[in-house]
Amino acid sequence: MFGNWFKKKPKRVYVPPAKAHLSAQAKATAIKAKPYSEKVLREIRRQVAGLIDVPKDEQTFISDEMIAAMQEGGNMHRMCWALEEIGISRERVVEIAQGIHGSAKSLENIERQREAGVLEADWAHSGGKCFVRFPDDKEGEAKNALHQAANGKRFNITKGLLIDGRWTFPGVEWGCKCTSRTILKGFND
Ligand SMILES: [Zn+2]
Repeated sequence: MFGNWFKKKPKRVYVPPAKAHLSAQAKATAIKAKPYSEKVLREIRRQVAGLIDVPKDEQTFISDEMIAAMQEGGNMHRMCWALEEIGISRERVVEIAQGIHGSAKSLENIERQREAGVLEADWAHSGGKCFVRFPDDKEGEAKNALHQAANGKRFNITKGLLIDGRWTFPGVEWGCKCTSRTILKGFND
């Protein structure tokens, strides 16, 4: 019964594909990228913990890989590799990677604004539909309508905007295409 205690998982190490195709500029950007803030890293861990696809004993591996990938400038290849490594289907792997990638990027953008002293922003609906994944996706349409209605609403950069009973930021929920317009005191407020 103690057999499992000693069964070590093989060490899984991400090997990036040949980088020859990357331009010198892309390589320089990847090296210079500022590390993601603690708040965003916590959010990545929270999202991974909430995924039914990721078994409990793989949460640390997946969280660490997602974080490492984001720190590398948002390496989706690494994200997909890690998710496939624990046996998730290829289709779902892309969905999860895109979800975490988009969400972390949006939240990090908000964090940078906040650190720079920005207090408020206006919600900006992209014009494209948020959340609608297939024709006649009623649930998606209903959620999109709420984001459309949020267009132009001013929100506190620390709190976010209350939509459908939840405080959120543009682009943070999976499938949300919204962005924000930064409000600068004395310029466009
Ligand atoms: Zn949206």
